[in-house]
Amino acid sequence: MVDILIVGAGPAGLSAAVNAVIRGKTVRIFSNRENYLSKAERVDNHLGFYNISGKELMNKFKEHAEAMNIKIEDGKVVNILPVGESFMVNINGEIEEAKKVILAMGISKVKELPGESGLLGMGVSYCATCDGMLYRGKNAIVWDQSKDAMKEATYLNSIGVNVTFVSKNPRPENLNENINYISGTISEIIGSGKVEAIVAGEKKIPADAVFLLRDAVAPTALIDGLKTEGNFIAVNRNMETSIDGVYASGDITGKPLQLSKAVSEGLIAAQHAALQIDKIKEN
Ligand SMILES: Cc1cc2nc3c(=O)[nH]c(=O)nc-3n(C[C@H](O)[C@H](O)[C@H](O)COP(=O)(O)OP(=O)(O)OC[C@H]3O[C@@H](n4cnc5c(N)ncnc54)[C@H](O)[C@@H]3O)c2cc1C
Repeated sequence: MVDILIVGAGPAGLSAAVNAVIRGKTVRIFSNRENYLSKAERVDNHLGFYNISGKELMNKFKEHAEAMNIKIEDGKVVNILPVGESFMVNINGEIEEAKKVILAMGISKVKELPGESGLLGMGVSYCATCDGMLYRGKNAIVWDQSKDAMKEATYLNSIGVNVTFVSKNPRPENLNENINYISGTISEIIGSGKVEAIVAGEKKIPADAVFLLRDAVAPTALIDGLKTEGNFIAVNRNMETSIDGVYASGDITGKPLQLSKAVSEGLIAAQHAALQIDKIKEN
């Protein structure tokens, strides 16, 4: 079991990791793609780093973390399940237990489909390697929304799932010939108690499962009962969310969507989580 598991290795997540380690806590930190800051051409407002590119600054953050033996792991967190006082975290099929979780996933751009949240776990899945076996011999749709989608469709096909690959891109050249391909996007998931069909354009396609392979997972789909305010996760001054033991920091908690705020909130979340682990009450 790890003390603190951090979802996202942007400025907020890395700051949380560094501060958790300084407090003597064990940490695992996962990230599944480049973060926002890397896209910034020039940053002038982070104290001590005048006129620096976002990529350069991000590299400095990573070097700092790595110098403290923090390993940034490549992986998408798809589900977090509270179990007693700890959490079982699913990272693309690998399960890790953590005492505390810090959400630092950046701004959520995920727009849930009609039917998606109601059928989550009843045919709607974000991870082929986690849930694929449940659909052997059955019909599954894979929606291509990330670089991993084809790999996951290939995996499902290899374990005996009848796969239809839905994509707005042309059929990938090396997509297995046993995988059906439909050009388009999914607008709705239909079913009562379980997935029965999806709607893609004018077509209604019967299916037992739909794998939504996006880069990001909506925070509310990641963990049940998370309170939000608009598009952001609601937190208090300790960066605690509505779920005991789960913290959030950075862009995901709201405006200003700025680097220094993300770094500060990462620090607060890590320090408070560490204090709670040590069962030390704050004054
Ligand atoms: C073009 C541009 C210019 C900017 N310029 C400035 C500037 O000059 N000054 C300034 O202060 N701010 C600037 N910003 C904003 C700044 O980049 C953000 O405020 C900051 O990056 C937020 O940090 P964060 O850690 O909260 O989120 P992010 O940096 O978005 O990092 C979140 C990380 O979480 C990962 N993640 C998401 N979901 C999952 C999951 N389910 N599992 C695993 N990993 C996951 C993502 O892949 C990402 O790596 C700019 C942003 C952009 C886009």
